Amino acid sequence: MIRIPPQRGGWLEVVCGPMFSGKSEELIRRLRRAEIAGQRVVIFKPRIDDRYDAADVVSHAGARMRAIPISSVAELLARAEGYDVVGIDEVQFFEPAIVPAALSLADRGARVVAAGLDQDFRRLPFGPVPELLAHAELVDKLQAVCHRCGGTATTTQRLIGGRPAPYSGETVLVGAAETYEARCRDCHEPGEDAVAPAEAA
Ligand code: ADP
Ligand code: MG
Ligand code: ZN
Repeated sequence: MIRIPPQRGGWLEVVCGPMFSGKSEELIRRLRRAEIAGQRVVIFKPRIDDRYDAADVVSHAGARMRAIPISSVAELLARAEGYDVVGIDEVQFFEPAIVPAALSLADRGARVVAAGLDQDFRRLPFGPVPELLAHAELVDKLQAVCHRCGGTATTTQRLIGGRPAPYSGETVLVGAAETYEARCRDCHEPGEDAVAPAEAA
């Protein structure tokens, strides 16, 4: 397979996959290379994601790059002015308006690299990511290593106190730690209240 990015104008790239699959690492890698090529680059991330460092994108392995925490899509558009390459991490947490915003940036000539979870911990398509995938010129679906069996992980397992998190309702964390793991299809454990896909249809 040969993949050639568009030779002129802007475009949209999406890097997706479960947690720990290397999305942030890949985003940083692509933007660093663009920086080396003398392009003006910027990374945005939603303000809610302050797990590591408020003003950096940080990968699980420690790679980091400066990022601007953003509260709204309007703010992102205003601050993206004048940049050649616009990275967006944790794009799944943005409101639906991120889709037309990313497209308008690409239309005005920017290279937009959006990284985020394609599925939530219930394995359902996550927020605006499915639409971004449909609009993108280039798509990469990364895989992680299953924490259970070492196989190919494509899902994110949410655990509360070490047990699969329920699929519905507000989860009250009473002293029980919330953790996440990458899991393969076989090892993914649904919440006890999960409805089988056949019943849900
Ligand atoms: P993402 O942004 O997709 O959550 P990161 O870029 O933050 O991923 O982290 C990817 C890095 O995490 C890998 O290069 C590896 O060093 C580390 N890592 C830790 N656990 C796993 C795992 N289960 N599968 C793959 N990589 C893992
Ligand atoms: Mg990440
Ligand atoms: Zn597994």
